[in-house]
Amino acid sequence: MEIRDELLKLGKEKAKKDETGEMLSAVVKQKLGIVSEQEMPFTQLRASGVFGLCPRRAVFSMILPMPPPVVTKNNMSMQLRMDTGTFLHEYFQDFVLGPAGVLFGNWKRSYTDKDGVLLDEKERMCFMPPPTPHPESVGWCGRWKFEEHHIVNDELHLSGHHDGWIDKQRMKEYLAEIPFTSEEPVDLVLLEIKSTDDNGLRKMKDAGGGPGLLEDYKTQATIYQRSVGVTETLFFYIDRKYFSMFTFTYKGEDKYWDYTKEKSEMIFGSVDAKKLPPKHVECSFKKSKRAKECPFIEFCFCEDADSVWDIMETKED
Ligand code: SF4
Repeated sequence: MEIRDELLKLGKEKAKKDETGEMLSAVVKQKLGIVSEQEMPFTQLRASGVFGLCPRRAVFSMILPMPPPVVTKNNMSMQLRMDTGTFLHEYFQDFVLGPAGVLFGNWKRSYTDKDGVLLDEKERMCFMPPPTPHPESVGWCGRWKFEEHHIVNDELHLSGHHDGWIDKQRMKEYLAEIPFTSEEPVDLVLLEIKSTDDNGLRKMKDAGGGPGLLEDYKTQATIYQRSVGVTETLFFYIDRKYFSMFTFTYKGEDKYWDYTKEKSEMIFGSVDAKKLPPKHVECSFKKSKRAKECPFIEFCFCEDADSVWDIMETKED
């Protein structure tokens, strides 16, 4: 055996004996890796999930008792990926684009008053305010934090939140290192931050941006644009491995807005008419991946699926 192999073997044996280290790994895995997912009754279409949503599943969740939560183990890497995505959103909003003065939207901070009570300062729609203390704070005054903008469309039972607005005029001024000429927004596009792996970023680059966008994201961006009256979304892709960036703009498409309306009408119209929507196209057979992951698979594939309305009536009695 070569010296290198011997050293590696020794290192592995030593690592095996490091019980404290093993315990720490186990704690992290247990804390992050065990995920309990509870199906919730459907109430609204979420902009980020409209495209992939199965209307039939949405209807089942509105009329059937909820299944027990599904507990899965070893989800640590998925959880970390999601948390890293959340962190990157906050980082670019609160520590980069906000302080650069180009991100417009809701800003909020917390402070303690003279009695030591923790209070939230009312959200302001503006570019990131200067770090001056709140007039009623006594020393401690939290940093400005960007609050993602909530959109609601009651007619379509639709909601979502977008990542803010970027002012093109201000970006030009920032890059030219001249003072901003307006405190009011001048030329806004919507911002959408997406974190991905290096392979995902490469694919987006190869596709030249917009054409490579998933239809889920095209639908999401179109909904935000139509909801706030802006005609463009600036996608900001960042990869979690090498932190490379890729940016491009996307103009929403009417077909995705129409698709959203149709889906909303299909779901809520089905409930009113007591008639199930058709199966999702990916669920043409029971062993499909989507069907196997659905808690309502047995109801969905039973011969007389529409009898589900009778169950609901029994439940109401
Ligand atoms: S099994 Fe498929 S088609 Fe049926 S409700 Fe679930 S996701 Fe929809």
